[in-house]
Amino acid sequence: MTRQAYVNGVYVAADEATISPFDRGFLFADAVYEVTAVYGGQPIDLERHLDRLERSLKELKFGALPDRKELAEAHRKLIAANRISEGFVYTQVSRGAYGGRDFVAPDKPRLTTFLFAETKALLDVPAARNGIKVVSVADIRWGRRDIKATGLLAPVLAKTEAKAKGADDAWLVGQDGLVTEAGSANAWIVTKQGEIVTRALSHAILPGITRHALFDVLAQQGRKITERSFSIEEAQAAAEAFNTSAVALVAPVVELDGQPVGSGKPGPVTRQIQKLYYQAIGADVAKVAPWVNE
Ligand code: PLP
Repeated sequence: MTRQAYVNGVYVAADEATISPFDRGFLFADAVYEVTAVYGGQPIDLERHLDRLERSLKELKFGALPDRKELAEAHRKLIAANRISEGFVYTQVSRGAYGGRDFVAPDKPRLTTFLFAETKALLDVPAARNGIKVVSVADIRWGRRDIKATGLLAPVLAKTEAKAKGADDAWLVGQDGLVTEAGSANAWIVTKQGEIVTRALSHAILPGITRHALFDVLAQQGRKITERSFSIEEAQAAAEAFNTSAVALVAPVVELDGQPVGSGKPGPVTRQIQKLYYQAIGADVAKVAPWVNE
């Protein structure tokens, strides 16, 4: 089966998709993106991803938006054409190609819109089952991390450093000594008092769609989330910790800078949150992730 991708309104074989080397996404990382999880052949929280994409484009003053209905249709068509049951759809919108290199953004953008879809196991994966090891890395990113822009060198370096240290991910620490978020996920702790904590939204972090979804599922259970910052030391002393993102979903963090978090195993609150989130996206938990009940 030839993998299908979408470039500017045209469905093409992914290997044959072409974008100009003058594209501002390539020259300046003048582009934004979204990664939407697919489960049961359905895009998860697509409207929220499209809302965030539009917000990113408006914040960067693109002056134009891709057609929302067409983007939603492209998600569904790529999921069907590539027979994705579990995986993700990647969407990137750049300010386009102009045959040269000028820092100043053009008055009239010629957007480049690129989507591809990929099969990937999301639920029943070792990270979700056994948890992940994390190391702290200085957060050297720019000041508008609430915009989902493609300039991702800092997390590339942070995650590569984490891997070199034998860990699975990085937690980024700001100049104030507080955790901003993970390399490509929001960071959470559960204190010994049972408080579920994640950093408040601001320019310092990405407003995660999975983060937002957890607010909904936990509110339905009458559970409160405390939005505040925390340090690596507080996280190491916490009962539990976890990451959330569209592809990691809810990943228990069992080790932080070489210290076990809590028991060093995924904790009961994290397991409960995994279960609630998996159910919310339509998973038959007893079948696909029975370990959440262990
Ligand atoms: N924070 C950062 C820096 C990210 O890159 C991501 C996802 O890629 C997230 C948080 C989680 O966001 P979402 O739940 O929308 O995937």
